[in-house]
Amino acid sequence: MAASRTLPRLDQDNRFFWTAGARGELKFLRCRDCATFVHPPRPVCRRCLSENVVPETVAGTGVIDSFTINYQQWRPALEVPYVIARVAIDGAPGVFLTTNIVGCPVDVVQIGDRVRVTFERHGEVFLPLFERID
Ligand SMILES: [Zn+2]
Repeated sequence: MAASRTLPRLDQDNRFFWTAGARGELKFLRCRDCATFVHPPRPVCRRCLSENVVPETVAGTGVIDSFTINYQQWRPALEVPYVIARVAIDGAPGVFLTTNIVGCPVDVVQIGDRVRVTFERHGEVFLPLFERID
């Protein structure tokens, strides 16, 4: 699996996001002043410009908002086909994650499917992927 993905570069703003999976948690920054979720991670709220943004754990479920199926084997270690989806995160209005849907055949995935996070570990990085539930 190591050669099949490009991993994120961790920095002080995004480290909490990529490592929260070590505890099985999905976290997003949330502004303590106006309650807006801020994703991708950045040190300032995009709505009120407050710097009072802190990681908050969400339920880890969501809904497939849109998706596509990739059939192109971009790298030798890449298993195809796979689903690239945009998931609307429960409890975090306005937050969408571009991710993969795993654990099921690609042809059963549909817009509106309920999904739950699962993490794929690469060293200290835990990539948030999603599985269908129901
Ligand atoms: Zn704010």
